[in-house]
Amino acid sequence: MDIETELLPESERKDLPSSSNLSFGKHFSDHMFLMDYKADTGWHNARIVPYGNFSLDPASACLHYGQAIFEGLKAYNGKDDKIRLFRAGENMDRLNHSAWRMCMPQVNKDELLQAIKTLIQIEKRWVPEAKGTSLYVRPFMIATEAFLGVRPAKEYLLSLILSPVGAYYAEGFSPVKIFVTDKYVRAVSGGVGEAKTAGNYAASLMASEKAKELGFTQVLWLDAAERRYVEEVGTMNIFFLIEDVLITPKLSGSILPGITRDSVLRLALGWGLKVEERPISINEVLEKAKNKALKECFGTGTAAVISPVGALYYKGVNYSINGGKTGDLAQRLFDEITGLQYGEREDAYGWMDII
Ligand SMILES: *Cc1c(COP(=O)(O)O)cnc(C)c1O
Repeated sequence: MDIETELLPESERKDLPSSSNLSFGKHFSDHMFLMDYKADTGWHNARIVPYGNFSLDPASACLHYGQAIFEGLKAYNGKDDKIRLFRAGENMDRLNHSAWRMCMPQVNKDELLQAIKTLIQIEKRWVPEAKGTSLYVRPFMIATEAFLGVRPAKEYLLSLILSPVGAYYAEGFSPVKIFVTDKYVRAVSGGVGEAKTAGNYAASLMASEKAKELGFTQVLWLDAAERRYVEEVGTMNIFFLIEDVLITPKLSGSILPGITRDSVLRLALGWGLKVEERPISINEVLEKAKNKALKECFGTGTAAVISPVGALYYKGVNYSINGGKTGDLAQRLFDEITGLQYGEREDAYGWMDII
């Protein structure tokens, strides 16, 4: 793929934010990648241009009918000064799966990886160096065809933007308190829950705002049909260590297939742990929490890697887990995965890609 490149003059480039002030998704680098699609010509006009506004027709399909998908991955600056991506090919595969589900066009995986690497090369100075920080990569695709009517659009835009992000745990792990909702649902079986598509996040806002008002960090979703089986948390998959078995809900079509989730499953199996992917009811979880058989609970996702859960709140009752403290397995998984990402541990699974 030829990428036409229009670079900003050095004098017009932004000052880097200080690494202590990064937080998440607030700052964006100097350039972005764009590529257009038309049904009759396919993907064309791949280009890297200065970061800036798009011009969209007000009738663009994404604004009305929601054909919009995205991905999220990170580039890590290692102690050896090499920049690494973690399982980036999996993100490209998932983007294509989301595209398929939303009747949007497929993208060539290798070309998109090449675009990500080229953009990061140009924006190298934006990959922060402080421990735990990284450069978040946000690929996304929107329908741009101007028409009103419900059918798949014939024109699309694919873009990559980059955002330096801070250490998620600047002051060490802090287990979160989670609100289990049986009132709202995120996704239904047969719906679009397994696609990273914009509307899923809009649909989740009401429940998470209510949970925040009550002092909780996130919402744990139950299945839509019976409100009985655990699905996932906010933008994370969920794991339970019950006695010595690590359990996570089976991918049912309404759960987002997290790459961190898959990595945790593979690492745990490799360490000889007992692992189960199966339906797990909220009643089972709370019963095990009550009699202390639930040793650990944690969420998994690109942003936090591992997010220990210190308590679950359901129907007016608070269930404390592991005394509200981070468990050994959560810590071990976090150390292993971040160790790989920063090039400090041996990449036995071939997950890392050096740019
Ligand atoms: C992105 C996402 C996850 C986590 O996926 P990772 O690939 O591990 O980052 C989990 N649930 C939802 C709803 C998500 O959007």
